[in-house]
Amino acid sequence: MARPLPPIRRAVWSATAAEPPAAVVDAIDTAVEVLRRGGLVAIPTETVYGLAADALDDEAVAGIFRAKGRPSTNPVIVHVADVAMARSLAAAWPAAAEAIAARFWPGPVTVVVPRGPRIPDIVTAGGPTVALRCPDHPLARRLIAAAGTPLAAPSANRSEAVSPTTAHHVLESLGNRIDLILDGGPCATGIESTVIDCTSSPPRILRPGPLTRESLETAVGGPVEWPAAAPVAETARSPGQRARHYAPTTSLEITSDAGGRIATLVEAGNRIGWLTSRTDDPEVRRLAASRDLLIVPMPADAAGFAARLYATLHALDQRQLDRIVVDEPPDTEEWRAVRDRLTRAAVTP
Ligand code: AMP
Ligand code: MG
Repeated sequence: MARPLPPIRRAVWSATAAEPPAAVVDAIDTAVEVLRRGGLVAIPTETVYGLAADALDDEAVAGIFRAKGRPSTNPVIVHVADVAMARSLAAAWPAAAEAIAARFWPGPVTVVVPRGPRIPDIVTAGGPTVALRCPDHPLARRLIAAAGTPLAAPSANRSEAVSPTTAHHVLESLGNRIDLILDGGPCATGIESTVIDCTSSPPRILRPGPLTRESLETAVGGPVEWPAAAPVAETARSPGQRARHYAPTTSLEITSDAGGRIATLVEAGNRIGWLTSRTDDPEVRRLAASRDLLIVPMPADAAGFAARLYATLHALDQRQLDRIVVDEPPDTEEWRAVRDRLTRAAVTP
């Protein structure tokens, strides 16, 4: 049975206004109704758009997996309005989780803690832990509070595809598979949260993200570990670590020799999109003359690059290119999350 496209409700709420405008209150009310009857609502967060359902309703959460085509072995993150709600969902609240939540919530970090009895199996893929995050987005938190229930919300895209950073990306990827889209404008951070397992000692990062290891170590007052060297083996523990993920339809490669690669590819008749921060480089100027090369200037700082990355990949996927070429980012701590996403985007299926 063909379903209609979901309504998109504009729900922009300026950070400077304490209370949302009437139109936003109305959109939130509509979203709450959808969630109460077990429906799916795409919501803005500061990281990427999430596909939300009532986390305590296993049928509703099953709908998320169906809409995304997500394997049932991949647990989903549960979004909470505050620390009290998080604690009510955990069987234990480790000191590291407390320290991280106190320092960074609301914010782009997800803590993995022992799972409490209210959490359905499907949310954790049957595992003993649950991933919790309080998003730094007033609309998302207001919605959770108004619904009176935590929201399971993985990224609002088909499984393995590039995460959405606008309501339009959600519509393109999930269209008639969902019930409602709240359009809060583009996401500020633009890549998924840092995920940290607080059940191990020392705590361990399962997915690099906007918050660096150093900042997490400062918060917990001790060491924080990086994932094991072979992330693919970690699938069950943290599905964001599956090899292919975050991938555009157009094949993507990372190179430290863009000049050479692009010359070779263009000569072979390929149309190339090139993500580069080196726009004043003479090589870039020389290559710019080619009709088969689309140069996409990217911010030179990691946070700026991350904020633009997914929107750029979504846009280039519309351009009928043969290849996306990306300059290899610096091998430094602050670029780790961007390198992680690009590496997974570059894995061929
Ligand atoms: P996404 O598909 O972008 O929502 O990503 C979901 C992320 O949640 C995965 O990459 C995992 O790292 C994380 N996750 C969710 N639940 C758990 C859990 N119980 N244990 C470990 N990681 C989890
Ligand atoms: Mg995702």
